[in-house]
Amino acid sequence: MRIPRLLGTAGAAALLAAALSMPAQMPAYAADMANTQLKDASGKAVGDVDLTQTATGVLIRLSVKGLTPGEHAFHVHAVGKCEAPFESAGPHFNPGNHKHGMMFGEGHAGDMPNLHVPQSGELSVEVFNPAITLAKGKPNSLLDNDGSALVIHAKADDYKSDPAGNAGDRIACGVIQESGATVGASPAKK
Ligand code: ZN
Repeated sequence: MRIPRLLGTAGAAALLAAALSMPAQMPAYAADMANTQLKDASGKAVGDVDLTQTATGVLIRLSVKGLTPGEHAFHVHAVGKCEAPFESAGPHFNPGNHKHGMMFGEGHAGDMPNLHVPQSGELSVEVFNPAITLAKGKPNSLLDNDGSALVIHAKADDYKSDPAGNAGDRIACGVIQESGATVGASPAKK
């Protein structure tokens, strides 16, 4: 490919480069990606999660192993602190001050569908949450002053019982951390 010499051509090339590096239109203050490692109460790693900002919400890619087969509630909690038994992570992330559960009303921003873990105890799944963002400074940002955490519970979320879906103990927790991969910036951690 020839090196463009005209300003107009260079501009078009820059636009193309921007379009190829997703997401292209994030403002400078926004984190594009975040991640966490989920650990159980004994400190053992039981999963990895990558979070990616999109134009309309956050794509959450989750991979867990060694979990009890069955349904488990999966939520964003309000505080980025995971000390067993993980009450430290606070209640469900709820910047809109709503009641819990998608079958009740608007639900918490941190409410998400249950994970159905098969007999192997291993599960890889993608979840999309349109109610949260990685963009700092927004009311629904996961990267706010006290951070946030992803929590897996012992039981299923019934999607209606306030404030936590009657989901039982917190069995795994991970503090959400900015990956630092902003467009045009070095991938080094901040
Ligand atoms: Zn909730």
